[in-house]
Amino acid sequence: MGFLKRLFGTDGVRGVIASELTPLFIAKLAWAIGSYFKEGSRILVGYDYRAGGDAIKNILMGVLVLSGVKVYDAGYTPTPALQYAVKTEGFDGGVMITASHNPPEYNGIKVIGPHGVEVGRDEERVIEEIFWSEKFRVIDWRSAVWSVEKYSGVNDLYVKAILEHVDKDIIVKKGFKVLVDPVNNVGVFTTPRLLRELGVKPVVINGDLNYEPTRPPEPTPETLSNTAQVVKACNCDFGVALDGDADRSIFIDEQGRVYWGDRSAVLLAKHLKLYKNLTGKVYTGVSSSVLVEDILRSLGVEVIWLKVGSVDIAHAMMRAGDALCGFEENGGFMYPPHQFVRDGAMTLALFLEMLATSGRRVSELFSELPEYYIVKKKYPMSRDVAVRIIDLVKEEFKSERLITVDGVKVISRDYWVLVRPSGTEPLLRVMLEAKSEEIAKSILERVESIIKEVIKS
Ligand code: MG
Repeated sequence: MGFLKRLFGTDGVRGVIASELTPLFIAKLAWAIGSYFKEGSRILVGYDYRAGGDAIKNILMGVLVLSGVKVYDAGYTPTPALQYAVKTEGFDGGVMITASHNPPEYNGIKVIGPHGVEVGRDEERVIEEIFWSEKFRVIDWRSAVWSVEKYSGVNDLYVKAILEHVDKDIIVKKGFKVLVDPVNNVGVFTTPRLLRELGVKPVVINGDLNYEPTRPPEPTPETLSNTAQVVKACNCDFGVALDGDADRSIFIDEQGRVYWGDRSAVLLAKHLKLYKNLTGKVYTGVSSSVLVEDILRSLGVEVIWLKVGSVDIAHAMMRAGDALCGFEENGGFMYPPHQFVRDGAMTLALFLEMLATSGRRVSELFSELPEYYIVKKKYPMSRDVAVRIIDLVKEEFKSERLITVDGVKVISRDYWVLVRPSGTEPLLRVMLEAKSEEIAKSILERVESIIKEVIKS
């Protein structure tokens, strides 16, 4: 099976609607997914608001019915809300139609297992094997369940469940004002409502599904510069920006400063440990900053470094059963008492609880974290060349601590650097954080001289 062309990327199948996600491709993929689940399985389908989403939904639901599974239509819903309903309402699986943070011309499909987490890598391979070999299930017409049943209330169920995980009274008392940017997508159905339930005044921008968002769906310090200005101009206590399917959340302080997700996650992990008295290890991808380990070690919390990709992190946490939380530096935060997946609204509720109990401003909370000089670069090259470079980087830095679960991460006292091949594109990615610009420059020079040498040969 290993030689078959991969359909699944880091999280689900994605492609440009119509040209890559053609009608035939969508139908074949849906048939493979339907055939992967046992005949008669109850499958919950949800979708976000994207070009082509309705078309995919209609093809997918029709094909699933013809493949012999029972289809329930959850309507427009964030990915984590669909996942929560799959887990708690006794479904055998789910399908989410979304391209998450990808640009607007993309759409895609995530397949959810009965535990509410995206299916693992082995299950993806099974679906791909069915797709390529065309070993689809053909059912007897008498055994089909032709109707698709509406399954409403998924968003309500989700908001209610989140509220049970935080100290509502302590948040309500504060009367916070928070800016929400759901990038004109399904976060509008859950996030402002969650805030009102917590006595927070929501200021919503990019909150109308009838308009194109004014920023790309991926929340990053670069794409959120306008959003950040509004946080400050409206005198909000902080801002939160979501991605398209509302599983990622990126936070902005009252002064309009945007923070990467590993920074907010380390504060949240601290809150879980010190205020909520929870125990366990922290699971994160190697692309997260080493400051996570520096801060959490002093609290006696162990950090487990994993391959980049939320699906792998979620499955590792589920298998181990000892996680305090998990996260990615891109803003995906996972809180196991609620569910093992990235969850924008759950993260926001925890952030509010942390802020309410701290008695400080958001900028003050983040100012506890050490400042690093950050470099992120990418170099186009084939995977083979990237692998040769990584071997030489290991050799060059062999006297330092090395983590080699995904490329190589070098950890030293005054810097860390990660050199890894991209999971989805022919690129080598280099991420570096150092205590000063000079150290960053000298480390980058050492890495780049290896890159140049290998490319030259
Ligand atoms: Mg997403």
